[in-house]
Amino acid sequence: MTILVIAEHDNVTLKAVTLNTLSAAQKLDGEIHVLVAGYNARSVADTAANVAGIAKVLLADAPQLGKGLAENVEATVLLVAKKYTHIMLPATAYGRNIAPRIAAKLDVAQLSEIIAVVSIDTFDRLIYGGHVIATVQSADLIKVITVRAAAFDPVAADGGNAPVQTINAAPALSSVSFIKRELTKLERPELTSAKIIVSGGRGLGSREHYEKILGPLADKLGAALGASRAAVDAGYVSNDYQVGQTGKIVAPQLYIAIGISGAIQHLAGIKDSKIIVAINHDPEAPIYNIADYSLVGDLFILIPELINAL
Ligand SMILES: Cc1cc2nc3c(=O)[nH]c(=O)nc-3n(C[C@H](O)[C@H](O)[C@H](O)COP(=O)(O)OP(=O)(O)OC[C@H]3O[C@@H](n4cnc5c(N)ncnc54)[C@H](O)[C@@H]3O)c2cc1C
Repeated sequence: MTILVIAEHDNVTLKAVTLNTLSAAQKLDGEIHVLVAGYNARSVADTAANVAGIAKVLLADAPQLGKGLAENVEATVLLVAKKYTHIMLPATAYGRNIAPRIAAKLDVAQLSEIIAVVSIDTFDRLIYGGHVIATVQSADLIKVITVRAAAFDPVAADGGNAPVQTINAAPALSSVSFIKRELTKLERPELTSAKIIVSGGRGLGSREHYEKILGPLADKLGAALGASRAAVDAGYVSNDYQVGQTGKIVAPQLYIAIGISGAIQHLAGIKDSKIIVAINHDPEAPIYNIADYSLVGDLFILIPELINAL
């Protein structure tokens, strides 16, 4: 049994979610290879080679792989795919973009966003917004799997010494070209890897309040900022901040939900948080059903008091 993990990276650094994906791969108890598909990405391959428990790193280095275009990465993966029993990617925008293309071309069913490895062909995944765990078994010869990072502790980033083997990249596809990328510049930690998240909902009332009330608290705690979909839809912040079923799935040490009611779609994104603190003036708010600490009151009074007390 040989498993291929597709590394997520920016040609310079290996993204932390790759370590969570490797953790899921290690549960399969097979030989693990990592594919780094990029351009001038040798440093990423070297970083991956240092990760404990990896047998080999494959490096496909070519200009057409530099921007992470799913079509070109998929074509390169397909050159080696048949050698593997499992192909695993993180269930991020990157992995979700590439995995279905690989699965379709291999004519297999994709196993999406697994949260546990039961056996070599059986996996758990959440359905109905995280309320039901489905245990799914695949009879496909090659299993294409995306992994929910929050469900697997990352493997150690060092302790390994795998060889790096250069492989050919598939030729650039003429049907796709890179035009531009707009990146949000973050002054605070990134949401999916943050240890503390301060998240705001519709209760904040406006974009100005969101930044004025939550910004100082996040800075005091060294936290990332997040938001409910209602806050995003109301224009308080852009949708990169959205936490939940159709936003980002997070698993910080501490999640502080402020002016968020606790709709199931929001809870689906935060349920793996170690400690949840809820601040809401409605004592009946559903968020209190899963909160470890509940503070009932007006956020416009409580948050400044909290900041002063910290
Ligand atoms: C298919 C689908 C997917 C969805 N995906 C997501 C998703 O990924 N993420 C997500 O978040 N939602 C998602 N939603 C939307 C979700 O159902 C809720 O509508 C949304 O989460 C509500 O956001 P909210 O809690 O900020 O707003 P509300 O439900 O309006 O809650 C606001 C809360 O603020 C409190 N409040 C108001 N003023 C104050 C004050 N001064 N002090 C203290 N508390 C105050 C209120 O008591 C209330 O509990 C999805 C919905 C659908 C149908």
